[in-house]
Amino acid sequence: MGVKVAKFGGTSLASAEAFRKVKAIVLADSSRCFVVPSAPGKRAAEDQKVTDLLYQCHDRVIQGLDFADLFAQIRKRYQDIVTGLDLDLDINKYLDQIEQQLPNQSQPDYAASRGEYLNGIILAAYLGWEFVDPTEIIRFNSHGFLDLLQTEQLIAARLSPERPAVIPGFFGSMPDGSVKTFPRGGSDITGALIARGVKADLYENWTDVSGFYMADPRIVSEPKLISIITYRELRELAYNGANVLHEAAIYPVSQVGIPINIRNTNDPQAPGTMIVKEVNEPRECGDIIGVAGQKDFVVIQIEKALMNSEMGFVRRLLSILEELHISFAHMPSGIDMVSLVILKTELNGKLEQVLSLIQERLDPDRVEVVEQIALIATVGQGLARRYGIAARLFNALAEAKINVRMIDQNSGGINLIVGVANQDFEKAVRAIYQAFVR
Ligand code: ADP
Ligand code: ASP
Ligand code: MG
Repeated sequence: MGVKVAKFGGTSLASAEAFRKVKAIVLADSSRCFVVPSAPGKRAAEDQKVTDLLYQCHDRVIQGLDFADLFAQIRKRYQDIVTGLDLDLDINKYLDQIEQQLPNQSQPDYAASRGEYLNGIILAAYLGWEFVDPTEIIRFNSHGFLDLLQTEQLIAARLSPERPAVIPGFFGSMPDGSVKTFPRGGSDITGALIARGVKADLYENWTDVSGFYMADPRIVSEPKLISIITYRELRELAYNGANVLHEAAIYPVSQVGIPINIRNTNDPQAPGTMIVKEVNEPRECGDIIGVAGQKDFVVIQIEKALMNSEMGFVRRLLSILEELHISFAHMPSGIDMVSLVILKTELNGKLEQVLSLIQERLDPDRVEVVEQIALIATVGQGLARRYGIAARLFNALAEAKINVRMIDQNSGGINLIVGVANQDFEKAVRAIYQAFVR
């Protein structure tokens, strides 16, 4: 029969109507034994995600402000779901408890995690399944990093396909028992961990699109759907901004060879996208598998004559980032120069500090900072082995009159990254897509 883990995203669980679709999907296949829900997402464009409301509540707490109005909105979302489903469940009991606990929290994790927690309580009651609190089975170490080994063992010991269960996404616990969340979009990671722990045959990731498209459907109209893609290609696309699936959700399953299937809750018959270790058959998509990107990077270019012969130069540069807890996205380099490409949110106001430490410790000839840069990754297995790919890409950008500010090709030859000004981002994605996909 096989065992499937089904993760449902925020829009798939945003209303009573959405819950009904989820129940029908889960019960349609008896191998779907474990369900991982997200918090209620947006029901319409102007709506707010419950997780965003919860973070706002926590911000109010930190500022010593009242959060009752925000919490009332959250309460209403859950009450509407429970009444809409005609469920005999006292959701107010849980909400009251959370409203009382919120003011005692110094970190946002507890608040943020309650969106998934409450959706888990409701979904378990609606399916008549067991509710398993992920603080029991998903563990972080004292540095706040996932303890994969312990988590895998705890999941294997706690869950069994004979006892179908609902496990909320997005959080686990620290060694002291306190709640710790994954980064935003992290319910995908929980789903992957559960799939790994129960040795699932398939990890289904149910969302609001019929699979992974060759480009973001909000930028390119009606992009081609990718029917099959490798873990590596998907990781490149996800890491570079195609956030259909959190990039950290790939490793736990790819390492043990569990395939991922992206599916659409609103179109359950559609086969979606399969993500597997290797694809040997020729694919319909052509020379590239996809284009993905993200805005708001800061590029710090550092020049120093004979940099390449100065022992430890790059190590000292990176130790500055390490000290300030900043991770970089890319580090293109040339003779006598190296650039750090960092997401603005990751720099988090520490740019001046980084620059003064670079001056102090590296004595560079020149440092230039370029802000508001968008990076676009064009991804495909064996990209570097095909002729003319780069020429086509740069021609397309030139024809669209887009100035390329940075180029980086990873050594595995699977992607080619260009940096453009933020304002050229959408235009550049469309130009690249059109150059390769007809
Ligand atoms: P969920 O709430 O189900 O986790 P997300 O909002 O995290 O869903 O991810 C799904 C969204 O990702 C889609 O609605 C779509 O707008 C966006 N997206 C970005 N790039 C792509 C792509 N290449 N293919 C499909 N969807 C994409
Ligand atoms: N609810 C969380 C978020 O909005 C986690 C998730 O949806 O995966 O980021
Ligand atoms: Mg998501």
